[in-house]
Amino acid sequence: MQRILYIPFDQLHRNYGVLKSADKSTDVIAMIESQNMIEGANWHPERLFFLISSARHFAQDLQVEGFTVDYRKATNTPTGLQEIQKKYEGAPIICAEQSSFRLTEKLTALNAEFIPNDFFLTPRDLFASWASTQKSYLMENFYRKQRVRLNILMEGDQPAGGAWNFDKDNRLPPPKNYTWPAYLEHSRDEIDTEVATELKMSPTTTWATTRKGALAQLDYFIKHHFAHFGPYEDAMALDSWSLHHSLLSPYLNNGLLHPAEVIKAAEKAFKTGKVPIESAEAFVRQIIGWREYVNGMYWFLGPDYRNHNQLQATRKLLPLFEDPNKTQMNCIKSTVTDISERAWVHHIPRLMLLSNLALVTGTNPQEFLEWMRRVFIDATDWVMVPNIIGMGVHADGGLMMTKPYAAGGAYISRMSNYCKSCVYNPKLRTGDTACPFTTLYWDFLDRHKETFAKNHRMSQQVFGLNRLSDLPELKERAQEVLEGLEKGLI
Ligand SMILES: Cc1cc2nc3c(=O)[nH]c(=O)nc-3n(C[C@H](O)[C@H](O)[C@H](O)COP(=O)(O)OP(=O)(O)OC[C@H]3O[C@@H](n4cnc5c(N)ncnc54)[C@H](O)[C@@H]3O)c2cc1C
Ligand code: SF4
Repeated sequence: MQRILYIPFDQLHRNYGVLKSADKSTDVIAMIESQNMIEGANWHPERLFFLISSARHFAQDLQVEGFTVDYRKATNTPTGLQEIQKKYEGAPIICAEQSSFRLTEKLTALNAEFIPNDFFLTPRDLFASWASTQKSYLMENFYRKQRVRLNILMEGDQPAGGAWNFDKDNRLPPPKNYTWPAYLEHSRDEIDTEVATELKMSPTTTWATTRKGALAQLDYFIKHHFAHFGPYEDAMALDSWSLHHSLLSPYLNNGLLHPAEVIKAAEKAFKTGKVPIESAEAFVRQIIGWREYVNGMYWFLGPDYRNHNQLQATRKLLPLFEDPNKTQMNCIKSTVTDISERAWVHHIPRLMLLSNLALVTGTNPQEFLEWMRRVFIDATDWVMVPNIIGMGVHADGGLMMTKPYAAGGAYISRMSNYCKSCVYNPKLRTGDTACPFTTLYWDFLDRHKETFAKNHRMSQQVFGLNRLSDLPELKERAQEVLEGLEKGLI
């Protein structure tokens, strides 16, 4: 064999990365199950199962196609690759650019040859050339350029539907007396059973582990959810864990689906006239806007970005993150329970519940990041780091987002049906039944008022503190809440 083509577990697509130029007669495909990765953290079992089973299915498909595949378990990725290199007499290792700084470093140390990573729609240097000309890295500006560059939802040089975004139509609370479509279930096969047995777990039927299953999920979303995606994309509901979200992130992130395929399916459906522009635009924005922007920012901001802690948040991770029984907050209990069941909740619980709670309690950003990385099915370094450090907990001092996403109970009450059956009252900021989010939101603003007063997008909120006649009581209640949260009693 003349070349070793390395496929990491997040590049599982036959037509992209190194596989697009693979030659069955001269190349060996290398895939490594790193024991250090598997045993190195307390990963959500569903996540480990998904990653490993998808990789084993992919390796099997390549073998069936006639490739020589060396899929092996090794202490870590470099060790596994060195073993393979020894077997194939020092053949060079070729791979697509890796998706994290850590793996890039490891592969570089092995003298691997990199080809450009085409698992995204935006080359890294193209993003960097955009970002380096910006005063502030506004996603909206990047997104509009993407629409034009990729010619998606455009009518000539104008946006389809006459506007770049339809956010004002897309902030509806969960509908009442509504029947949500059934969830698509993915059946399990022999490889799944083998992986589950090795991991000593029993998987849900939520996540596919094959290309066929990922395509079925895309098709199901387009047929049953896409038309309603926009209006309810920010809503949170007790009676539906996924609402009209696509559940495609795991496959986009491990390569079973390519963003170009997802966009093509969305555009095709939009052209039938059955999908309103506010849903089509909202979904396209997530894929060619947010996803590409976050990946671009990860590489643009560099490996040290993850260590930012500009608000000097030092609190240890609260027990409720590990155990939903350690809180009485209905919204958080329900969210953490959903995560423990299937390793997923949508972007608003991630941002406005989990990250918001970490932000207003002053939880250490790196501890929170580490927890989020462990528990989500789709957590990869490039996507979690900017979403947490920049967007979720404002630990970068506003480098990525101009203002922190801090909110009290009023926002959560408006966008969900959690509050009606909660022991706390979102309208109250003091007293035993005050909503912890409401109390801590004001306490957070007060603690950081000097910093935020300089931010013109925050000055109005900070100014609102002056209208609080009960600030001393609120500060006392905030202390009680923080202590109660630490003890798992609030
Ligand atoms: C604090 C926080 C942490 C997040 N962590 C992750 C993560 O680890 N992995 C991950 O894939 N997404 C992450 N997201 C983005 C988003 O929450 C998930 O992509 C989405 O919930 C996945 O479900 P879905 O496929 O049904 O998404 P949909 O709502 O159907 O959206 C479609 C797609 O858009 C993309 N997308 C949307 N928003 C973002 C975003 N902010 N960043 C990157 N891609 C985006 C995803 O690929 C998603 O599949 C995070 C968001 C926040 C606010
Ligand atoms: S009252 Fe507060 S804690 Fe309870 S569900 Fe509403 S926002 Fe969450």
